[in-house]
Amino acid sequence: MKAAAIAVFFCVAPAGTAVAALTHPQPLFPYHAEYGRLSLHSDRPFDAGRANQILADVERRLSRSSLNDDNAHRIFIISSEWRRRALLLWNAGAAGVNYYPLTRNVFLARANIDRDRVMTSTGEPKSPPRTLGYYAAHEIAHTLIKEQLTPLQQLKLPRWINEGLADDIGFGDDADIEGLIQRLQAGDPDLDPARSGYYDRYRLLVGYVMKHRGWVPGGLIASCMPQSEAEGELAADRGRVR
Ligand SMILES: [Zn+2]
Repeated sequence: MKAAAIAVFFCVAPAGTAVAALTHPQPLFPYHAEYGRLSLHSDRPFDAGRANQILADVERRLSRSSLNDDNAHRIFIISSEWRRRALLLWNAGAAGVNYYPLTRNVFLARANIDRDRVMTSTGEPKSPPRTLGYYAAHEIAHTLIKEQLTPLQQLKLPRWINEGLADDIGFGDDADIEGLIQRLQAGDPDLDPARSGYYDRYRLLVGYVMKHRGWVPGGLIASCMPQSEAEGELAADRGRVR
């Protein structure tokens, strides 16, 4: 089927077909690589050696977390516009999408496997440390987080915990809490998720609260702590520092 015909098919397809496209999208992605339980699928050819390096990097990031599982996770790299609209649905502007519990498949748009980069909407490569490996690990991390919860609990999980923990796993290193606090105090716009689109503020709050309370990620998820309470703890501590 030609691309245009497939695009029309998706527009008129019943809901069950759309769900099948998200749970079993492999026929739409003819190029793939595997690394243990992880696999990378693309609608464009890519360098197999580079893909293996990226998957090894994603595995390293996931393995650092106590939330890591033994399940298979598939990463789908979308290049064509019609696939992006058909598979990202209402998230068409996002760099990455996770549909768990519907599927463990995660979808990334505008990514260049050979360069280990995700592109902006204007085609510029996003800067390290936000590499393709970071974005893939971040999206899979949402699955690891939600596996801890029932579907109802998943809906109630505060955004700062969900995105903060996903970013903590995605970055693959220990958060520099003091450095993030200094950037927050200096008014760094990256610490404002609404302005920057980055989750550095949530990563700071997650790292701070777990360290302050002696919690592991599972304890933080179970707490469902409101963001206002976490912000209050951090503000009180900063007051003592001054
Ligand atoms: Zn996220």
